[in-house]
Amino acid sequence: MDRPTRRLPSSVFAYEAGVLTLEGVSLAAIAEAVGTPFYVYSAGRLRERYRALATALAPFDVDIHFAAKANSNRAVLAVLAAEGAGADIVSGGELARALSSGIPAAKVVFSGVGKTEDEIAAALRAGIHQINAESYEELHLIDRIAGELGLVAEVALRINPDVDAETHAKITTGKKDNKFGIDADRLARLDNEVKGLANLKIVGLAMHIGSQILSAKPFLAAYGRIAELTRELRGRGFDIQRLDLGGGFGVPYENELEFSFDDLAAAIRTTVGDLGCRLSVEPGRSLVADAGVLVSRVTLVKDASPMQFAVLDAAMNDLVRPAMYDSHHDIVPVKEPVAGVQAVEYDVVGPICESSDTFAKRRKMPPVAAGDLVVLATAGAYGATMSSTYNSRALIPEVLVDAGRFAVVRRRVTIEEQMGWERLPDWAAAPALSGSRAAE
Ligand SMILES: *Cc1c(COP(=O)(O)O)cnc(C)c1O
Repeated sequence: MDRPTRRLPSSVFAYEAGVLTLEGVSLAAIAEAVGTPFYVYSAGRLRERYRALATALAPFDVDIHFAAKANSNRAVLAVLAAEGAGADIVSGGELARALSSGIPAAKVVFSGVGKTEDEIAAALRAGIHQINAESYEELHLIDRIAGELGLVAEVALRINPDVDAETHAKITTGKKDNKFGIDADRLARLDNEVKGLANLKIVGLAMHIGSQILSAKPFLAAYGRIAELTRELRGRGFDIQRLDLGGGFGVPYENELEFSFDDLAAAIRTTVGDLGCRLSVEPGRSLVADAGVLVSRVTLVKDASPMQFAVLDAAMNDLVRPAMYDSHHDIVPVKEPVAGVQAVEYDVVGPICESSDTFAKRRKMPPVAAGDLVVLATAGAYGATMSSTYNSRALIPEVLVDAGRFAVVRRRVTIEEQMGWERLPDWAAAPALSGSRAAE
């Protein structure tokens, strides 16, 4: 049983009898049962990642709120809920998913720059733990809605600490020019802003500086900043009891070094460790990314010498990360490559009519042929949740594997079903478009 690639965790992936398996289940057998392409997640790996983080943070009074947008399949949420995870949500839809997956409202935190009145009301009615407000305008909105519901909302202020997360520009959120959070220098006005807001209580501060951050250094800077602000606001009479330290802990997709949860713990200890605050973190990617892969079949290999295009049945609508963030995903054959086989260079592409529908350029990998199955590694985060039906493609199945068993946890949503969601306007259904109807 060889390790297929560094990017498939060896605790759950292995070649057995020449076929790639996940927790002992053959990926070829799943493909046979559900068709391709599909996502498959390992419950065992989800638990492993959750426990690794929980163990590293055990010295602190800390809650782990999984950022549901990374993977909001209810079966995935339920595995993490059983481990004790709460949820960080960014929409009313995620609220519904979290609550229906066994995550109690008391473990739900609501973030996001544009929560609507309906979403805020739903969250308050459900009795969630905390709303992270991202602007003074939103504080006023929350206060009004809480007042209408006769409730007092527990609110943390999301601060923009103005630090560089040293990650991809599209996933940086903690710089002054990003849309997220309240600038630290605007806090001077806080006393005025909250005067008269009787239906909310500022219970803490929150931050989230970006995603796919690979070293503890930006966290050290940001947590240090939030510690300063906590002391300052306490000095001004605000009862800051909770600090939400956000997520963004990176994972290796290619050759990056593993993000260290121990370094994170050290950054927490030296910055906010002695403030006596209840802490929380909001990891998304780091819990689910390498627990999931996208399995696809090679439709054909197009010879365009000197180029070889491996055309998959998966496309950018199923996994948009390469097109959107130029991200790397290891691509591994499901059939174990013959030892010592000569690698071939492919452009690995999907069938969609966009040049950006490309999973990998000039990728050296074992030779593949039409009909072969391949795995796109590290696809458990921001994979299925960012998928679409572009080019009128089906939404693909999601499968959960747990100790030798597998279950389809989202079935394929076919184009027939999707067309059933649509209606022709009744005027278009008129037998003859004579032009006289409007005058009738
Ligand atoms: C997206 C997001 C997270 C999770 O980010 P990861 O990089 O997946 O850990 C956490 N908190 C907030 C507010 C977010 O928007």
